[in-house]
Amino acid sequence: MNPGEFDLIARIRSRIAARADVVLGIGDDAALLQPPAGMQLAVTADTLNAGVHFPESAAAADIGWKALAVNLSDLAAMGARPAWCTLSLSLPVSDPAWVDAFLDGFLPLAQAHGIGLVGGDTTRGPLSISVTAIGLVESGCALRRDAAQVGDDVWVTGTLGDAGAALAQLDASEPEPFLRSRLDRPTPRLAAGQALIGLAHACVDVSDGLLADLGHICARSGVAAQVQVAALPASAALLQTFAVAQRAEFQAGGGDDYELCFTAPADARERIEALAQILDLRFTRIGIIRTGQGVLAVDAQGNRWQPSRQGYDHFA
Ligand code: ADP
Ligand code: MG
Repeated sequence: MNPGEFDLIARIRSRIAARADVVLGIGDDAALLQPPAGMQLAVTADTLNAGVHFPESAAAADIGWKALAVNLSDLAAMGARPAWCTLSLSLPVSDPAWVDAFLDGFLPLAQAHGIGLVGGDTTRGPLSISVTAIGLVESGCALRRDAAQVGDDVWVTGTLGDAGAALAQLDASEPEPFLRSRLDRPTPRLAAGQALIGLAHACVDVSDGLLADLGHICARSGVAAQVQVAALPASAALLQTFAVAQRAEFQAGGGDDYELCFTAPADARERIEALAQILDLRFTRIGIIRTGQGVLAVDAQGNRWQPSRQGYDHFA
């Protein structure tokens, strides 16, 4: 017989360690959390639906990883330090092996970033996972979308387009393994986000596609951006797998990158490059912030470049 809701919750609870800032964790009507003095809470939620946010073929452990990773990425974009999270599971059947495998992906990532699972909900329905993550950031110091300034450089961490390329390959065959891992197990850039406090003006994580997400910074900050398409960083795997025109589409408009795109004044360049060494992470300058509105992408000749798709909109 399949276990009931409470057995599944007990299974989850048995794998959670106690921590000092969780006064009361899983098992009561609500968790009681103790935030440190002088810190603001950064709160974010993201839902993953089968067939939309992960392929139907995705392994449970990869789904577990990604459900948390996309939320950690939002905390990273605020410069916040992860503290607590909740997990709402909608499952078609009560399958303990699936829940165990899901936790095999979720919990090691949680452990690595010091985020504690403090509650959630378990229901029956189409496969859907919703995580709420709470981070801590010193009062007034969070990286926001609305603080870009004219003259800022535009930067991006890591490489772009890998996940978009994997998704395109999935339609025909099994994707190239590195690209597939970038789609299934994105790396939230938490150390980078926290290190950018005091250096970056505005920041966003690239979840819907670079141009779309940079567009959010521009709209919120009341500025325009110009981006050099040829400057967008590409992984060796993407370079080997796709020709330049296709690559540019994935880099500028493919979603699921979970890199950070941020703006910073020119006098921060050296410190940002030093950060790249310390964090062993690529930081690439890809454009500038100007007066006006919207994001203009240009090719190597300085001509306007337009992607066939700007970014992902669930209701478009
Ligand atoms: P209630 O009916 O009062 O909302 P539940 O029976 O849904 O309580 O949940 C019991 C306890 O288990 C609560 O503390 C809740 O936060 C926790 N919980 C339920 N589902 C999960 C889950 N998927 N992951 C972590 N904690 C969970
Ligand atoms: Mg409940």
